[in-house]
Amino acid sequence: MVEIRTAAQPSAAVREERLWQRHIEMAKLGATAKGGVNRQALSPEDAAARRLLAAWAAARGFTVSTDAIGNLFVRYEGQDPAAAPVLTGSHMDSQPTGGRFDGIYGVLAGFEALEAFVDAGLRLRRPVELVAWMNEEGSRFQPGAMGSAVFAGGLALDAALAITDRAGVSVAEALRQTLAAAPVPQRPALGGPVAAYIEAHIEQGPRLEAEKRTIGVVTGIQGQRRYTVDVVGEEAHAGTTPRAARKDALSAAVAIVAALEQLMADPADTVRFTVGRFEVHPGSPNTVPGRVHFTVDFRHPEAAVLAERGDRIAAVAARHAKGCAVTVAEISRVAPTAFAPLVIDLVRDCAARLGYANMDMPSGAGHDAMHVARIAPAGMIFVPCWRGISHNEAENATPADLAAGARVLTEALASLANA
Ligand SMILES: [Zn+2]
Repeated sequence: MVEIRTAAQPSAAVREERLWQRHIEMAKLGATAKGGVNRQALSPEDAAARRLLAAWAAARGFTVSTDAIGNLFVRYEGQDPAAAPVLTGSHMDSQPTGGRFDGIYGVLAGFEALEAFVDAGLRLRRPVELVAWMNEEGSRFQPGAMGSAVFAGGLALDAALAITDRAGVSVAEALRQTLAAAPVPQRPALGGPVAAYIEAHIEQGPRLEAEKRTIGVVTGIQGQRRYTVDVVGEEAHAGTTPRAARKDALSAAVAIVAALEQLMADPADTVRFTVGRFEVHPGSPNTVPGRVHFTVDFRHPEAAVLAERGDRIAAVAARHAKGCAVTVAEISRVAPTAFAPLVIDLVRDCAARLGYANMDMPSGAGHDAMHVARIAPAGMIFVPCWRGISHNEAENATPADLAAGARVLTEALASLANA
């Protein structure tokens, strides 16, 4: 009876203390004085993390390999080695002042799932591969999510390898140094096939904690439109120019921002609208401002909302120009990622079966899963993080929540690998 139960529930072999200890060990690599992590992509600290993961993998008998863009793979062989593998993972690189859980949690939860399969004596039809994607954060080399983009065919390998950091070091050179410091066998080919992909990650937002849920069933990754707005009026003397005669660019820009806040009003608080840069020229206390430059960052999980409200920004700005000239330029547009209903439903079912309070939610941040979703059914599992704080050395999560996410991941991977 016990053996049947174990086989049916490999998550029973997930060990909270082991998973937590691995986080403690990884957090030493690039540890900062304030308790965070600085482990940027293809740095010596990144190489050290690769060596540690590879050593743990070797100790459990898993095969380790890397591809041409430096993604690191740990493979639990399937009964049918030729079958397309189920993938799980996230990233080991961090922001310069990053936390101990962003990215590395998804890698260690995936590793815990592989260990749980072995400990439970569970053989699966498909191979299950844990991936540590190269350069998710994009702080040293832009763009971020580079390894998963190349893997999924969204970015050409040669173009990615030629990208340089601020010191002029190319991805190709940094990767060569990293692999010299953390050598693993090369895979013959780049990319899929991939049967399915699940990524576990801390939420990086406050909703799960606020609503007292342990598991976020991630339905997709919201899309994003970015704009610049330039308002050009006329500089004038602050003492002599009557207000009725002015073309005050600041006065117009303030009215435009207020009108855009109305346009973006959302009782459900799903719309994300941010004016993060606001520059007033010439910036003299006794001169009526002649020019204002500001940015707009607008995000939403639904393509229709992104299209409808985003397309109205220019007209709303023009209506509040107050005699100034207004130019609205869209500088980038990223479509929302919809995860596969198959994976979303599976994650929700596994969470419910294990008795975890859960909720469906979109991801506010970008993740490697957005690229993998282009080539395979994909989904994500979120666990709470303290006050939603992330990209910050104070980032925190509880051992119990991390283990809960790993259990849901383990069940979901087992189900997909036997499909
Ligand atoms: Zn991350």
